[in-house]
Amino acid sequence: TEVVNVIGAGLAGSEAAWQIAKRGIKVRLYEMRPVKQTPAHHTDKFAELVCSNSLRANNLTNAVGVIKEEMRMLNSIIIQSADNSSVPAGGALAVDRHDFSGRVTDAIRNHPLIEIVNEEVTEIPEGITVIATGPLTSPALAEKVKEMTGQDYLYFYDAAAPIVEKDSIDMDKVYLKSRYDKGEAAYLNCPMTEDEFNRFYDALVAAEVVPLKEFEKEIYFEGCMPVEVMAERGRKTLLFGPMKPVGLEDPKTGKRPYAVVQLRQDDGAGTLYNIVGFQTHLKWGPQKEVLKLIPGLENVEIVRYGVMHRNTFINSPYVLEPTYQLKANKQIFFAGQMTGVEGYVESAGSGLLAGINAAKLAKGEELVVLPAETALGSMARYITEANPKNFQPMNINFGLFPELQPKVRDKKVKVEQLANRALTTIQNFMKSTAL
Ligand code: FAD
Repeated sequence: TEVVNVIGAGLAGSEAAWQIAKRGIKVRLYEMRPVKQTPAHHTDKFAELVCSNSLRANNLTNAVGVIKEEMRMLNSIIIQSADNSSVPAGGALAVDRHDFSGRVTDAIRNHPLIEIVNEEVTEIPEGITVIATGPLTSPALAEKVKEMTGQDYLYFYDAAAPIVEKDSIDMDKVYLKSRYDKGEAAYLNCPMTEDEFNRFYDALVAAEVVPLKEFEKEIYFEGCMPVEVMAERGRKTLLFGPMKPVGLEDPKTGKRPYAVVQLRQDDGAGTLYNIVGFQTHLKWGPQKEVLKLIPGLENVEIVRYGVMHRNTFINSPYVLEPTYQLKANKQIFFAGQMTGVEGYVESAGSGLLAGINAAKLAKGEELVVLPAETALGSMARYITEANPKNFQPMNINFGLFPELQPKVRDKKVKVEQLANRALTTIQNFMKSTAL
């Protein structure tokens, strides 16, 4: 009988292995730790949490709460272990990290259908294989992934500008225009007076940044400089860089603003916008304060903060199917941060779906894609349908869900309806389709 290979026993790989084995298929799970460590892991346990011990919000007013609930319905080993090792954390699901990864490790090690191979994989094995080696994939394997996906489709750093909800932008203050009116008007422009710029500038250079980790020091390559570092070069530097106003005259006044911040559509549905050239290392609190000084963004909802960190991920919109299969080789699945999902729970969620589909492939069954109305489905849709030219990893958020029809204005009601729709959709899907 067929054995499915899973590479990496992190958040995604552990979940994938569990889901495959639960479906009666043998798994060979490769994990290099402790033979070889990553720069962020410290133990030999599976699903080690490398930083925070929180799996974030646990209620349905937050999309990460909804995805957890969907994963509970699908018997996620990660969420079950987290529920069983939780510590008090208000509305969040935080865990005792040792108890948590211990539980995952025991469940996987004790499963009769899972064989564990403690070695670094440097060649992609034959047969159905789930690659889930995470943001710190070992260099030898990354090289193979690069060969397999194509030179230009594997990235080693995630230098992302903040992404915001369109609904939270003050449309009376911004205007739609492309520089010199070239092509279709594609950018939302936030115009600034000199005073507004100075206030923004002073806050930007004074804001607190996240210290870089040792293994992240090489991150500042050209073309990817954090906005605050560029700002430090001189008060006017940004005016010749991402905040350049030429060709962006305000159509209402016909005048050129002193500075302009541009927002570019980020998702197919047009509900999310990224702030062009604003990759940043600012801490989240100060980042929000600084962004709120941009005209039009006073009440902005940030769905993804700007980050700059080490991350290994493929350009999923180019290379991946919504089943988490590689377009060029349907025997190969990817899961976890490598697919451009972001976060512990999201990584496990992608592993869950990749695992279900890998098992289905092994059994000769039809593969599944969950409806985009579900959190798991919306995430798979985002990573495979986002703009491939500017693909950035993303946490789950309600902006990824298809809009309600008719549109609901009240934020609280909207979120409640999106969450209910997600859970009803997945329940119905599970009734009609054998997962
Ligand atoms: P991992 O959990 O890293 O699992 C990958 C596994 O593959 C590892 O066990 C690794 O040892 C193994 N492996 C790698 N290469 C090979 C190979 N060649 N052969 C065999 N095994 C291999 N997310 C949050 O939600 N909250 C946070 O606080 C947070 N902090 C982070 C801090 C850092 C420094 C980093 C890098 C990421 C952080 N993340 C955080 C992002 C992300 O959620 C985690 O990295 C998460 O662990 C990703 O899950 P994964 O399964 O994709 O990768």
